[in-house]
Amino acid sequence: MIIQPKTRGFICTTAHPEGCAKQVGKQVEYVKAQKKIEGPANVLVIGSSTGYGLASRIVAAVGAGANTVGVFFDKPAEGSRTASAGWYNTAGFEAEAAKLGAKSFNIVGDAFSNEIKAQTIELIKKELGQVDLVVYSVASPRRTHPDTGETFTSVIKPIGPAYSNKTMNFHTGEVSTTTIEPAAEEEVRQTIAVMGGEDWKMWIDALQEAGALAQGATTVAYSYIGPEVTHAIYREGTIGKAKNDLENTASVLSDSLSGIGGRAYVSVNKALVTQSSSAIPVVPLYISALYRVMKEKGLHENCIEQMYRLFADRLYAEKTEVDEKGLIRLDDWEMREDVQTEVTRRWNELSTENVEELSDLEGYRREFFQLFGFRTDGVDYEADTDPNVPMPNLRP
Ligand code: NAD
Repeated sequence: MIIQPKTRGFICTTAHPEGCAKQVGKQVEYVKAQKKIEGPANVLVIGSSTGYGLASRIVAAVGAGANTVGVFFDKPAEGSRTASAGWYNTAGFEAEAAKLGAKSFNIVGDAFSNEIKAQTIELIKKELGQVDLVVYSVASPRRTHPDTGETFTSVIKPIGPAYSNKTMNFHTGEVSTTTIEPAAEEEVRQTIAVMGGEDWKMWIDALQEAGALAQGATTVAYSYIGPEVTHAIYREGTIGKAKNDLENTASVLSDSLSGIGGRAYVSVNKALVTQSSSAIPVVPLYISALYRVMKEKGLHENCIEQMYRLFADRLYAEKTEVDEKGLIRLDDWEMREDVQTEVTRRWNELSTENVEELSDLEGYRREFFQLFGFRTDGVDYEADTDPNVPMPNLRP
């Protein structure tokens, strides 16, 4: 079939297999061109098919030569529906991993469930014995609690007064003012249940109990802080409460891993175009302005550059540098004073009339479509393409 992008708001309901594979190939090439990392040997990535999790898996396999287990929630093609981007990304990753000779395994299903945890642990014990790094990179709008069966929905809302700020429709380039009503207490509770640290802890506890964590094992999850303009909607809003919970979980896990000499970190990453970030109001406009400024200053990074830095310069450096709260800061360049001063200056002026000029709207749009394998050089989008791509090394 001919596969073209079909968008609904900030979602693209189609994905292109060849384009996704090429995007993964570009990330692999980036890592190959960097120094090898003396890093982990066996790595579990939970949420491994897109965004930061995919980049973590690529850095582990290509940069450190690690065997990897990826857990993700994606669908294969069916009838006239293409597979989701994460499915094609992972198939693309598998083709690259096969060339490297590192082992890799894929588990498709709900990471929040007890079943998927049990299957993953069984696989690790059988194939790898133990893992020495666990990356937790799940971003989801919903979670069903494995023990109580309650389904939680996360919302992105301010806490306290209603919040108004500029936002953008990145398809049309229209800049407008949005007002978001504050969250009810119940919504805060549910958002923490989805995006907080409980599931990360459940994974680490289950792995440790099963003896699937190697001596000195490391675990890392990802967070975001961001600038003043997004604080009300992000860091001081519902999602920020969940991130506080995730960050507190890192200290709890550090204690529980001390017996095996293990370490638990939260890494604060840069704002980037991913499926998750494009769903947040205000943030796409901020990212467009940020990209423009960081590109002009020669500081721009994507997921892969960020994750390479995480492994090479933080987690597996001689000393893992953290801030006063114990957080790894990969948002150091985003938050640099000169970068933020310039973003704020532009932010105050941004409107529909000047958005192309003051921000990197075109770059934002291109990256959004590239998440789904579109707008990628070297792909013939008019060609008949088979959407059915088998998933190698799928378990159980
Ligand atoms: P993403 O949407 O690109 O990736 C999410 C991953 O989670 C995918 O692999 C998906 O398959 C998987 N997933 C979702 N629900 C699942 C489930 N129930 N079971 C198994 N897998 C599931 O998101 P991302 O932007 O890479 O975010 C990853 C983490 O990084 C999040 O904690 C996010 O808050 C954080 N982060 C993102 C940004 C950003 O700007 N994008 C910045 C800093 C931190």
